[in-house]
Amino acid sequence: VPPGDDPADNNKVRVVVIDPGHGGKDPGALGKHVKEKDIVLAVGLKLGEYISKNMPDVKVVYTRNTDVFVPLPERAEIANKNKADLFISIHANSLPGSPAFGTETFVMGEHKNESNFEVAKLENSVIAFEEDYSTTYEGFDPNSPESYIIFSLMQSIHKDQSLKFASLVQDEFREKARRVDRGVKQAGFLVLWKTSMPSVLVETGFLTHEAEEKYLGSEMGQEHLASAIYRAFRSYKEYVERNSKIESRPPDSTLRNNGNGIMSTAVNGKPPSHPYFKVQIFASRNQVSFTDDRLKKYPLLEEFRAGKWYKYAAGKSYSYQEILALCNSIRKDYPDAFVIAVKNGEIVPLKEAVDLNKD
Ligand SMILES: [Zn+2]
Repeated sequence: VPPGDDPADNNKVRVVVIDPGHGGKDPGALGKHVKEKDIVLAVGLKLGEYISKNMPDVKVVYTRNTDVFVPLPERAEIANKNKADLFISIHANSLPGSPAFGTETFVMGEHKNESNFEVAKLENSVIAFEEDYSTTYEGFDPNSPESYIIFSLMQSIHKDQSLKFASLVQDEFREKARRVDRGVKQAGFLVLWKTSMPSVLVETGFLTHEAEEKYLGSEMGQEHLASAIYRAFRSYKEYVERNSKIESRPPDSTLRNNGNGIMSTAVNGKPPSHPYFKVQIFASRNQVSFTDDRLKKYPLLEEFRAGKWYKYAAGKSYSYQEILALCNSIRKDYPDAFVIAVKNGEIVPLKEAVDLNKD
């Protein structure tokens, strides 16, 4: 069975897409001596080698492995077609006239400050190299903040996992590669717009900073960066696979509606095998009663067993938007609450349920 096609692989990280930015007629950011497109290709290929050599169960797919131009939508398409479990876009930064240096990793989201917006604008400006880009992007204007609001929605499904991987990358850059850590950030990147899996964009350093350009251009620097991303990937894979070893009690004994259910309208008329959404409130080492103060105010409680953990989830809906609204209200009490998908009494990948429940 090819990686990604085996249903038993649902909670495993089997396919990774490595996306070296720019290429061909698009050089990306320019240093005094090197071009972004060459640096990120070298780092991407080294990263792929590390993964292939050490993780035979992972399939590595490149959006480009030579110096060619690949339009942004095609990069997402490659990832979606290959049913990737993770998308890693690799870039280098540039801020002419500024002393800025260091690494940062982005996930798709609303930018919280101007400098994050500037990075996204710069990376998105490559669409000018694409034929007929105004049609492809439905009037998208890289310079208009309003253009960015619509497209963070799709990636919001994968935001928790994208943030997890992004912070592992920054930890490795800081602790092992000894790079300056500018943090995990959010902004609207077109290349992440249509990927349907956890996705990040890594900025490996500033080509406008003399010492950093030298580092990025060196074999040693590229190897350190690639091995840092590789170690982050290894930890991420372990994390995802460890957290998905879910056993659950049969749904009949666990699905105890506590009477004040508010999410019952959307759940009629579907077979019991149809996946639905819930909000996981918290997990506990000890079993907690549904009448416990921490749980009793929430509707449609269910308990799931994962190793030594009892997981408690509320709500039930076939609408992702509806469950997201419940999740946001539960987050007022439990900031770590998140959306899960359940099928036949088991927690299943969110993506499967989202695809089956398109509004
Ligand atoms: Zn770039």
